[in-house]
Order: sequence, then structure tokens, then C-alpha cells
Amino acid sequence: MNYSIALVPGDGIGPDVVAQATEVLDAAGDKFGHVFNYVELEAGGCAIDHTGEPLPPETLEAAKQCDALLLGAVGGPKWETLPGNLRPERALLGLRAGLGVYANLRPAALLPQLWSACPLKDEVLAADNPPGTGGFDLLIVRELTGGIYFGKRGRSDDGNSAFDTETYSKVEIERVLRIAYAAAEVRRKKLCMVDKANVLESSRLWRELTQALSREYPHIETSYMYVDNCAMQLVRSPGQFDVIVTSNLFGDILSDEASVITGSIGMLASASLGDPASAPGQKGPRGIYEPIHGSAPDIAGRDIANPLAAILSAAMMLRYSFGLETEALAIEAAVNAVLDAGLRTADIAGRGDPGGTERIVGTREMGAAVLKALLGEG
Ligand code: NAD
Repeated sequence: MNYSIALVPGDGIGPDVVAQATEVLDAAGDKFGHVFNYVELEAGGCAIDHTGEPLPPETLEAAKQCDALLLGAVGGPKWETLPGNLRPERALLGLRAGLGVYANLRPAALLPQLWSACPLKDEVLAADNPPGTGGFDLLIVRELTGGIYFGKRGRSDDGNSAFDTETYSKVEIERVLRIAYAAAEVRRKKLCMVDKANVLESSRLWRELTQALSREYPHIETSYMYVDNCAMQLVRSPGQFDVIVTSNLFGDILSDEASVITGSIGMLASASLGDPASAPGQKGPRGIYEPIHGSAPDIAGRDIANPLAAILSAAMMLRYSFGLETEALAIEAAVNAVLDAGLRTADIAGRGDPGGTERIVGTREMGAAVLKALLGEG
């Protein structure tokens, strides 16, 4: 099968890590009989330098024609003094809005090889530990385009008060819930909806709709938790969670908390999903896939950035946009294999080395090692 992928390497370490992700994708294509056609596009600081705007209209138009988008990172000190609407980060908002993605998926798993990178105590990690993991393996699905960040806001005429409004329509809630249930289907089949239904009316609507939808997914265990409790449970017993689904504001906070307990920014991937596109051959929702880290200008172009978050983002693309679960698992297994073999980029070095084999490698060597492990040559 052929897939077209919009490639937005962006700025800083973006091009360094995206190059490794495409090499691994191509190897997966060779191994499993798929062809990935890349359409390289400019967005962010590099686009400002060449065109004067962070998201040139032709970038968005071309991205819309593709089956999915793989992004590195955008931004850097060079563009930090520009006015807000001309900053590289505007490209991210423009791509999200333009491609209609409304659900942000952030896995946060503590790999056994990186156990000591986690700031939590061993006994916390041992609680409710999902089989085969080093402590926890959860996925936060955050609503991305609604709620209080997009609601009515303002100040009173006398300037003595201010307000922001949390508004959600049934359509906005249901569509993100469906994505969360679909994600739970291919994971451990547990979904926890996080809200503040003891106080907020909008949360009560989230809860009602989840209760109704859960009947369509009887094989998935649905539970409910207040957000304040969830914030505590994430550091008391993260192993209890599989998929967490929640609103924009709660998801923003909880997903940062979840990523911190993994202890390694260079390892964390993300997906932002919308409705299925009508492009021929499209298997799943249209999506933007990117590592959660930024452009790390301090280490750009020096062959030291960790490419694993970008590689794992590519695996998420195979899983969620193309329905290629076996291929996604193969890439994830290859990443595990190189960590088992003791390979570490500098950011994850010195954080657990059970076999005493730790060896520090650069971006390209790490990418090449994953590729070899994928092809069974490691
Ligand atoms: P950052 O994530 O770029 O870097 C934070 C720290 O983590 C740095 O020390 C960096 O060297 C390190 N780091 C990040 N990714 C790494 C990797 N893959 N391997 C090894 N080390 C890694 O965050 P920042 O410094 O706050 O932001 C730098 C720029 O990136 C800013 O312009 C910011 O606006 C932008 N940014 C972009 C995105 C995005 O494109 N999605 C996200 C966050 C920040």
C-alpha cells in the first residue's frame, strides 16, 4: 500500500530527528511491503526566513493532500522577538486548525531500561504495574480545540473582574471520546474519563455522554475520576491507568504531569487526530505526529539529539492514521531492543544500565541502530 506523508522537519533539532524517523519508516515499509511518499514542507522559523510567514498557505494546502503529517519542532531564539502572529509557533496552531485535529494523544510510558530516570519511588512504580512495563504505560487523550481556551473571555468595564468560559458541545465531546475508545481498543481496554463533575456543569455533560457511549464499548472498562484525584493518583499509582480522556484544560495539566514522571523528554511522542480524511487509501483519522520536545537550539545540528521521540511518533502514525498495528509494534520493539542493548543518547545516559553495557551514541547512530533492530540485523 502507498501512503503520502507531509514532512515538516522545522527548526533546530527538528531536521536531525525527522531524518532518522523517515529512515526507520522506510525500513518498515521495505519489511512489510508499504511505500511511504514524503512531501517535504516548510513551516516555523525556516518558513519565516524564506517566505516571511510561519505557515505559508502552500504548506497547509499541500499538507491537506497527504494522509498524515510528521513534524519535528519549530522555533528558536532567532525568531523570539517577532510579534505573536509571526512567531514560528503560530504554524502549529495553523496546522492543527487547518487539518481539523481535535484530539491530542500523549503516551507516557516508563520503559524498564529508564526506570531510574523516573522521579517516583520504586514502591510507587511497583503498584498496579501493567505486565511487561517498567512501572506504567498510559495514554492521555486531551480535547484540543474546545473548552475554556477557546470560550468567551473578557474583563468587566471597571476592570475589577475577569472571566473565561468553559463551553463544550455534545459533538465536541463525543468525537474525542470516540478517539479515546478507539485507542483503548488497541491497548489494555481501560478508559478513565477525568472531570470535575461534582462542581462543573460542562463536566456533567462529559460524564453523561461517556456513560451513554460506554454502552457501545461493553468490552472496555470505563471509569470516572475527578481531576484533583487524578493529579494525585498519577504520582501515587500511575500503573492503574491505561487511557485517560479529558477536556482541554485538564488534559494540558495532566499530560505535562504524566510526561514529567517518565523523566525523559527526548523519548516522548504525540499524535493529534481529527476525523478520517476522504483521501484514497486512508485507513484512520487524519493526524499530526510529533515529538513533544521543542527545537532544542542548544544542541541543533550537533548529532546529539535523541531521535527516539520522533521515531516513536512515526510508529504512532502507522498505528492511528494507517491502521498498521503490527508495523507500529515492530518499531516500538526495535526501540526497546536498542535500549536493552545499552545504547543511549546523552539525554538518557546514566539512567539505569542493568547489563552494564551502556554506550553513548549520537543521533544518527541511534537511528541506524533502531533500523537494524527493526530489520533483525541488530
Ligand atoms: P526544548 O524541548 O526544545 O528543550 C528543553 C531541553 O531539553 C533543552 O536542554 C534541550 O537540549 C533538551 N532536549 C529537547 N529535546 C531533546 C532531544 N530530542 N534530545 C536531547 N535533548 C533534548 O524546549 P525549549 O528550550 O523550551 O524550547 C526551544 C524552542 O522550541 C523554543 O523556540 C520553543 O518555543 C520551541 N518549542 C517548540 C515546540 C514544538 O515545535 N512543538 C514545543 C516546545 C517548544
